[in-house]
Amino acid sequence: MIYLDHAATTKTAPEVVEAMLPYFTECYGNAGSIYKLGNESRMAVIRTKETIAGTLGAEANEIYFTSGGTESDNWALKAVYEAYRDKGRHIITSKIEHHAVLHTCEYLEKQGAEVTYLDVDGDGLVDVEQLKRAIRPDTILISVMYANNEIGTLQPVKEIGEIAASHGILFHTDAVQAYGQLPIDVAACHIDLLSASGHKFNGPKGVGFLYVSKRAKIRSFMHGGQQERGRRAGTENIPGIVGLEAAVRRVYGSVEEAECVCNLEEEKNAERERILRDYLISQIEEKIPAAVLNGHRTKRLPGNVNFSFPGVEGESVLIMLDMQGICASSGSACTSGSIDPSHVLLAIGRSPEEARSAIRLTLGAENTKEEMDIVVGELARIVGKIRESRL
Ligand code: PLP
Repeated sequence: MIYLDHAATTKTAPEVVEAMLPYFTECYGNAGSIYKLGNESRMAVIRTKETIAGTLGAEANEIYFTSGGTESDNWALKAVYEAYRDKGRHIITSKIEHHAVLHTCEYLEKQGAEVTYLDVDGDGLVDVEQLKRAIRPDTILISVMYANNEIGTLQPVKEIGEIAASHGILFHTDAVQAYGQLPIDVAACHIDLLSASGHKFNGPKGVGFLYVSKRAKIRSFMHGGQQERGRRAGTENIPGIVGLEAAVRRVYGSVEEAECVCNLEEEKNAERERILRDYLISQIEEKIPAAVLNGHRTKRLPGNVNFSFPGVEGESVLIMLDMQGICASSGSACTSGSIDPSHVLLAIGRSPEEARSAIRLTLGAENTKEEMDIVVGELARIVGKIRESRL
């Protein structure tokens, strides 16, 4: 099998599983209990917050555990809206956000929010001049993703953060695809809220976090006990939290070393991935006629490749790749049997047909150059065969 869908999810790393195991069977105490067994769990919660905070340049009490990216995005948007709606009801976001943000915005619109959806250019970059023009006296939140999950484009987050800060507006970034891949400094980028998810960087599924700066007032998401300082009630998922810490340390090193930079090993991995990504892009462009790269050529995630192959259906290519043991994904979302073209690809100017012909290949540390050659060979054969059958 050749796995090229790391943006969808990743394999839980062996050292992550190893770190988690004792917390199922030996250190299974409730973090809220006063005896020693509970204390061990409580210490794991504190340690993980310190580790994550160290990687972002934040403080431990600014980290809240969640069930992953979707919950973090929902919490950030809904809780900011609730806390600030007396000040204003206007939110700015982009047209290419993940549905965890877009559908939450639609929900908030039904609650009385006004949302501006920023356009992006042909590479998927938000226009900062349009952002400046969109700001109103009643704007309470700007939410723009760090990196796009389909086309990998990296947004000018620092510039957006500076604009938000200069107007006293909160800035949330969905960093689900970026955290664990790239160094992120919340202070330098003026980020007030940041969403991340463990399973995107070899951590366990069902655990992530929301960073909330001390500047931001937000409402509680879950009501119940006093966990997470009363803001997200419910017994903590200790094995998940321990696994999250192990995954974070794999990427960013220990707390002391962390300081917002990826550890050297991970830097080398990212560089290796970039080289492999660029090799895959160049090979596809060379071997498959009329292939159109989606997303920015350089300002993109180290492992993201996304192409449209006009004249073919992405879904058919995926099924044929799967028959050859290759796991990839398309730029389309399947909704109730009909295949909707990706909102991201439409936003960068692709036609519905071009959007439906897209294939996303996302790389991980275990992929090799030999695998890229196999994939390009299979892709060229499959795309050629489908195009021929249509003549
Ligand atoms: N945001 C982005 C950009 C994503 O890519 C994803 C997952 O694909 C999510 C949010 C949702 O994350 P989770 O699967 O942890 O709920």
